[in-house]
Amino acid sequence: MNIAKHYTKACPACNHTVHEYTDVFGVYKCTGCGAIHGECFKRDAGNFYKPYWSKAPNSPNTFYIDLVTHGLTVERFHGWINSDDKCIVQVG
Ligand SMILES: [Zn+2]
Repeated sequence: MNIAKHYTKACPACNHTVHEYTDVFGVYKCTGCGAIHGECFKRDAGNFYKPYWSKAPNSPNTFYIDLVTHGLTVERFHGWINSDDKCIVQVG
């Protein structure tokens, strides 16, 4: 496990402060609950979620995401993602 020691922001889902690096610079994975959070380029957000509603919204395999993306505009998406199809289960 490659711990991101310099990144001390609390997890938005569980307030845990220990995170792992992800493959995308600026985005971290909470070691407490598996939530994904941080900032990245908009084109890299697809590594974590797709902007479509999940076809299995009742799946137990979900994780929280809170991502600020930088593209033509700065946007924020936060909500629950189905980890099987990476699509949105719940916004907010
Ligand atoms: Zn967490």
